[in-house]
Amino acid sequence: MIKLKSFRLPIVLRFLVGAIAIALITLITSQGVSVSEAIAQTSSPTTQASTTAQIGEFKVAPLTYAYNALEPFIDAQTMMLHHDKHHLAYVTALNAAIKKYPELKGKTAEELVRKLDSIPEDIRSIVRNNGGGHLNHTMFWEIMGPKAGGEPKGAIAEAINKNFGSFEKFKEKFNDAGTKRFGSGWAWLIRAKDGKLKVVSTANQDSPFMEGNFPIMGNDVWEHAYYLMYQNRRADYLKAWWNVVNWDAVNKRYAQAK
Ligand code: MN
Repeated sequence: MIKLKSFRLPIVLRFLVGAIAIALITLITSQGVSVSEAIAQTSSPTTQASTTAQIGEFKVAPLTYAYNALEPFIDAQTMMLHHDKHHLAYVTALNAAIKKYPELKGKTAEELVRKLDSIPEDIRSIVRNNGGGHLNHTMFWEIMGPKAGGEPKGAIAEAINKNFGSFEKFKEKFNDAGTKRFGSGWAWLIRAKDGKLKVVSTANQDSPFMEGNFPIMGNDVWEHAYYLMYQNRRADYLKAWWNVVNWDAVNKRYAQAK
């Protein structure tokens, strides 16, 4: 029978091993930052969506305001996930698809979705969903902002009154388009091909550009845009959203609409 010699560390060594273990645990746990802490730390004007880490032709531009800048109407966590994860996923998929076709290099996302018929068939639906997703979200971040909302001003205010009777009537029509969109999609104010302003809705990530219309402003009614804060209450989200509309930015888009 083999007698096992019990293995015993000298007392000093045992103390040392224990101390190292405690130090390591402290170090590891101090590195772990919770989501809420991460959000709290990013109250700077720019966000963490690092453009340098992105590979490919199309990029998600950083927000020009903090994740929590649209509170209490849109919460910081929704903004962070929506911008840094959802929008980034559209851009990543779009980049991967067009990489196979050098002739598409240099085209803007708008040019791609305006002529979907000319896109190679094997990537057409990818470009439709993700090119549309990229354009729609780029517009979305642009037309929102802190200390915004209220009555529209400038040329868009006049155009809204002329086309819809009043801002109230326009809002009602727009919110209705968003509420009635079954499943995922967008509510829009577009400048239609005939030059008229219209309220429409599109499914999924379809862009008004696909029908030759110009998207002046749009609201995202995918659940990812509101579910953390509003759950199933899409109508409440649609109502609250007007508090973050940046009318200066909407006016800029209206001036570009053609
Ligand atoms: Mn979205």
